Amino acid sequence: MSNKLIYNGTVLTMNAANQIFKPGYVYMEHDVIKEVGEWKTDGSMDYLLAKSSYSYNAAGKVVIPGIINGHTHLFQTFMRGVSDHSPLAQWLKEIIWPMSLAMEPEDFYLAALIGCIENLKSGATYMMDHHYIHTYPENDASVLRAMVDSGIRGHLARGGSDLAGEIRLRETEEMIFGSTDRLLDEWDGAASGRIRIALGPLNLYGCSRGYLEKAAVFSQERKLISHVHVAETREQIDTTMARYGLRNLELLNEVGLLGERTQVVHGVWLDDGELELIKAKQASVIHCPVSNMYLASGVARVPEMLKMGINVALGTDGPGSNNCQDNLEVLKFTACLHKVNELDATLLPPMDVLRMATVNGAKAVGRSADLGSLEPGKKADIVTVDMLKAHISPVHRASSSLVYNANGNDVDLVMVGGQVVVEHGRSTWIDEREVLQRAQARVDILRSKLAGQYPIFATIE
Ligand SMILES: [Zn+2]
Repeated sequence: MSNKLIYNGTVLTMNAANQIFKPGYVYMEHDVIKEVGEWKTDGSMDYLLAKSSYSYNAAGKVVIPGIINGHTHLFQTFMRGVSDHSPLAQWLKEIIWPMSLAMEPEDFYLAALIGCIENLKSGATYMMDHHYIHTYPENDASVLRAMVDSGIRGHLARGGSDLAGEIRLRETEEMIFGSTDRLLDEWDGAASGRIRIALGPLNLYGCSRGYLEKAAVFSQERKLISHVHVAETREQIDTTMARYGLRNLELLNEVGLLGERTQVVHGVWLDDGELELIKAKQASVIHCPVSNMYLASGVARVPEMLKMGINVALGTDGPGSNNCQDNLEVLKFTACLHKVNELDATLLPPMDVLRMATVNGAKAVGRSADLGSLEPGKKADIVTVDMLKAHISPVHRASSSLVYNANGNDVDLVMVGGQVVVEHGRSTWIDEREVLQRAQARVDILRSKLAGQYPIFATIE
């Protein structure tokens, strides 16, 4: 039997009582946590060490449940930092779309693989990847292969747009739902259940009403999560108002796509009525503070949402607008953004932010029963973060150190379903250096191809 033990660390269980064991341990069999509790250093618990085929001394480390990254676009690792000063519409037109159109299927694999490794190494064991570039039929499979190869839990929201601003990225309803059907057949539940498929209509201005209505029926019939960009910028509200006389979320509700399996990504520009709708329909909001700041989109009403009892989870957003996917860094941005926005330092204490990244994330993906906290019976998705660092120690409260001091470079061990996928801060499944060198060579070629038409790809300053 494959028994594993993490012991002698500060264990933040994130259970309903936010229980902390210091020192504590997590004992697991196969992919499931069997015991969590206080670790006694008098030798009386050494029997657990003796019956474990793998043991990890977490002295000086904090042990947390794997973070759930509620929203990203993995393919964007290839276009991070091309330009850091473009508003959303211009950024899409001059950077994201041209690079997306130039990328080939193997590029999507490489880009996604880097993204998966980056997520794991910054403490995420689960990602929701909104993939909406379907220039080649095998693009989705390229992303999914990367998820499988890296060891992470990957949920691919099959993105689509029949009214996309870039005409070459538009698809018909038949193409979108036909390919979603195939993905469900071929991939849903793959890699011992690590892979999941969801629906991902791109947003409410790039999708026709007919497509959104069909997506609502499709997701209801198959009990699928719907993952949609909603009210990210003020201009997006104007578009649906002009077209339908409805705000973004009102439209989402009217087409039948707002329910407990709905993930409202961003939800920056929502009025009181829209917040009430989210609450009534028990949908989740995925908050991406770094992206909202980077693209100057606005500030979501997160403290109010939490006060109302709305489930708010966290996401990095794609590395095109972050520019990284450091899941620990997102914690600090979340807390700081809302404190300064409301001029209220009491908002979002560290434990609340950690709950958004773990427990709330699990709820948003419908996995409260087996993910999001360190409790017996849950999946062994576990992360350790090294606190013995000059930018972290000495530690008063582990929750504070995690939110305000730690970053992805401090992650030491990552387990997904009881399997070690990152050890000593390095991927154990992938030769990172080789992948990064290959990716840089491909990006250099793509840059030179694009530079003639888009001068931004020629600049190096
Ligand atoms: Zn996004």
